[in-house]
Amino acid sequence: MSAPFEIPKNYAELAGKRWGETTAKQRLEALNTPSLTSIRFHPQRPFPHPFSNTQKVPWHPNAQFLQQRPSFTLDPAFHAGAYYVQESASMILKAILDRLPPLLLWLDLAAAPGGKSTLLLEQLNHQGWLLANEPDGKRFPILQDTMARWGYANQMLCRAWPKQLADALGPLFHGILLDAPCSGEGMFRKETHARKQWNPELVQSCAQTQHGILKEAIRLLAPGGYLIYSTCTFAPEENEGHAQELLQQGLEPVRLKFPENWGLTYTDPNGFYAYPDQMPVEGLFFMVWKKPGQQPPYPEPSPSKMEPMDLPMPVPDAFSHRMVHQNTYFGSLGPLPHFWPQIPNLRSLGTPIAYNKNGRWLPHHGLALSLHAQKTPLLPLENQEALRYLRGENPSYREVEQTWISASYQGLPLGWLKKAGKRFNNHYPEALRIRMQGS
Ligand code: SAM
Repeated sequence: MSAPFEIPKNYAELAGKRWGETTAKQRLEALNTPSLTSIRFHPQRPFPHPFSNTQKVPWHPNAQFLQQRPSFTLDPAFHAGAYYVQESASMILKAILDRLPPLLLWLDLAAAPGGKSTLLLEQLNHQGWLLANEPDGKRFPILQDTMARWGYANQMLCRAWPKQLADALGPLFHGILLDAPCSGEGMFRKETHARKQWNPELVQSCAQTQHGILKEAIRLLAPGGYLIYSTCTFAPEENEGHAQELLQQGLEPVRLKFPENWGLTYTDPNGFYAYPDQMPVEGLFFMVWKKPGQQPPYPEPSPSKMEPMDLPMPVPDAFSHRMVHQNTYFGSLGPLPHFWPQIPNLRSLGTPIAYNKNGRWLPHHGLALSLHAQKTPLLPLENQEALRYLRGENPSYREVEQTWISASYQGLPLGWLKKAGKRFNNHYPEALRIRMQGS
């Protein structure tokens, strides 16, 4: 079965020049096969999943391919953050992180929808901080949703341009991921749109944009820090084409090695491609750079804060630091790094516990999905009832003690319910409600 929109003719010609006729032919064939579906399980949300006996993703211990693409929208476990649907090549990030020294202060400079940010959080394993940034106003809420589902408290979210961040913060971060906007050849299998929009001018304009973002990324990288650059395209101009500039800026290439049988293709001085004719992937490029120098110590914590608050539900003891920012009450496991007030357009800092509506504090969806909210009482729902809850309906009433409880599915929290007399009111956020019909 070929994709509904042909691969652009001038792309096929370019492919021949780029890779030689034989490789180009097999690569184009691979790009014309239906895309693969792979999922990554949350390491801390075990559940009796139905995806047994499928092929493992070789470079990630918690990930597997699915033979068919089910309707994830109609699976309550997906909404509870039990797994993330992610292109298998993106998961190579885990193997890269395993090969770097532990880095405690990360910036994801182009983070939405958030798949790689969730991977960074897993690697941090509740230590240090990740600042996930997405400048696009339409994509930012998707990042927020993904990050809430993953439930970690050591995350901050902002919506800024890289230059704003670099001007405000300077060379702070021990690790920066720049998964750059690109011309998207690696999306050809999955998205008709990627095929339609591709043209040689797009490659040039993406290369220029990437050049600009890379300049800011270098300004944000601490001495001794590591920069991971990636794209989902195969155009050298957008990938190893940036190497010369990075060398001139004084960065050192970091050459990483991976098992041969994964099928990666290396480029000079330090890049590597995951091509769909060599590996079970859609396609990605990665390269890793180091700024010379001694890594600065972990940044000073900001003065200890514990703003008390009268709330209608218990707050996890784990949140030893709590504070109000922009009408929201946040909690974290440790102090925030001292620079947080300088972060431009900061939207979230830790786990959102409660938000203020008309002078009253209500539990935040982020708290319902927090990994630290083990004491929140759960109301177990069966599959169909859980779907109705996610559509905004009220579950049938059962006797419970607490006013605020979380609806749950297979032991996984879904979102808030409020007891009002002999009924429950649904507090699942409007914006996240499932609109798709079916079961
Ligand atoms: N890392 C994400 C993930 O794994 O889920 C995917 C990131 S996507 C390839 C690139 C992102 O860069 C998009 O969300 C896009 O909105 C954002 N972007 C576009 N222009 C940008 C810029 N000038 N600076 C930073 N990010 C930008």
